[in-house]
Amino acid sequence: MTQSKLPKKSICKWDKSTLADALPLLAEQVQSAEFICRKCGRVAAEKRLLCKAARMDSLSEKKA
Ligand SMILES: [Zn+2]
Repeated sequence: MTQSKLPKKSICKWDKSTLADALPLLAEQVQSAEFICRKCGRVAAEKRLLCKAARMDSLSEKKA
């Protein structure tokens, strides 16, 4: 059994092989994403995974 873990560095800095390894975990991050990277447009649930994270709800014009 391989147990993959999210790399410590931000998604923005992952190389292709890191991305391939951690893709299922990245998919989970994207599904519950609350942050978006202002620099590269990547999204994640955890702020630390983005180089210039911003809360997506702070960018939204919509008010529920
Ligand atoms: Zn970034």
